[in-house]
Amino acid sequence: MPSDNQQIDNNSVVSFHYSVATAQGEAVDKSEAGEPLVYLHGQGQIVPGLEAAMKGKTAGAKFTAEVAAKDAYGDHDQELDLQVPLDVFPPNVRPQIVPGFRFRAEHPTLQGNEVTFVVHQIDKEQAFVSGNHPLAGKDLKFDIEVIEVRAATTEELSHGHAHGPGGHHHH
Ligand code: ZN
Repeated sequence: MPSDNQQIDNNSVVSFHYSVATAQGEAVDKSEAGEPLVYLHGQGQIVPGLEAAMKGKTAGAKFTAEVAAKDAYGDHDQELDLQVPLDVFPPNVRPQIVPGFRFRAEHPTLQGNEVTFVVHQIDKEQAFVSGNHPLAGKDLKFDIEVIEVRAATTEELSHGHAHGPGGHHHH
């Protein structure tokens, strides 16, 4: 059990339960029963708006964080919703172009910015792909319960991620 009332700050390892919904109340995701999410604070491992709301909280805290789209999964970028002629894909790749297939490509206008695109649909001639996260453009509401806050171990800091609730998990 946590021995004190550590406040969440950079290099804290935080375990928390969450549920997240859109601002309109549509449920999006939640932590599994009994399985909190564990992260290393200050590394951008959770969305920036939630990470900012976590700072300073202690074990046992329950709160709601309303996070604007730009501080969650980003604004919706229309330039990233594309129809791509199937013949731009090399012949050996084409059989893989089915809904759910992911590929990396440069942003259509922001040169040097790589984006992960997902194929949503195909027809005879083209693939409908999107580089937007499914939650892009959505304001989100997180219900949070902080379970544990502890200092990261040296090993966790050198890896840049948390190793589970006790710090012992390896991968
Ligand atoms: Zn590791």
